[in-house]
Amino acid sequence: MFECKNCAFHEYQTVYNNLPDRLHRHGGSYHYIRCKRCGLVQLLEAPPDISKFYSGYRLHQQDSKIYGVFRKLTIGHCYPFIKSDGGKILDIGCGNGWYLEQMKKRGWQPFGYELDADYALQLSAQLKISVLSGEYSLTGYPGYFDLITFNFSFEHLLHPQRIFGLASKALKKGGRMFVSVPNIESGEARLFGDKWFHLDPPRHISFYNQQLLSNLFLKNGFEEIKIKNLAIPTGFAGSISYILRGTFKPLIWFIAMAPGILFSLCIRDGNFMISGTKVG
Ligand SMILES: [Zn+2]
Repeated sequence: MFECKNCAFHEYQTVYNNLPDRLHRHGGSYHYIRCKRCGLVQLLEAPPDISKFYSGYRLHQQDSKIYGVFRKLTIGHCYPFIKSDGGKILDIGCGNGWYLEQMKKRGWQPFGYELDADYALQLSAQLKISVLSGEYSLTGYPGYFDLITFNFSFEHLLHPQRIFGLASKALKKGGRMFVSVPNIESGEARLFGDKWFHLDPPRHISFYNQQLLSNLFLKNGFEEIKIKNLAIPTGFAGSISYILRGTFKPLIWFIAMAPGILFSLCIRDGNFMISGTKVG
């Protein structure tokens, strides 16, 4: 039986039915539903072995120099770049470690977290930093980190509420947590509908909106909650590729980046970043 990932309620209404994996074409058919009690949009059923849907996943590969520059120009503004004097940062869903390397240059002692244990080990050896894996590894660091970030990873979690709780406990009092996610209630999401690039089934499992995430912060003892809309041209460019070809075509995506930049400057709501300071 269906159980909401946020409030454990069983009743839902359909949002999108029978969506394919347009990005990597791993097959399958996915349904997004909205919980009738809390309103969280989520996959009706996540695949039992989600790890196979990450094979060939762009964010787990090393960036070329050109891509690194491109990434910084297009989505660099979506990451919290803060300076520190030896503070400890944990980036949950650290991908290829790009953000942690940037933070290391800004004085942070970096720690990563990845779902897949083999990938975490490989990344740890490559970057020479600690990369945790397995949600209960977080329990080994009570009140340890000064900063915890979920940079476009929260929507990938099978148990978002539980991981948020564990991460909160791993944060020091006075520490800050940042969560950046796609916004399913945005004008961009409504415009592109089931071809919206940031739906990304089945990798994107849930879409917490601003209210639901604010509640999660408050429930876990945070205050000074701030929300910022994020403009990312890739959402427009990827959606155009899905509309024209039903899948991801790099050439279309690249050409659509220029109008995508304009679009994201006019409609600045495809994603958002929420942050809070831990007090309790
Ligand atoms: Zn719910």
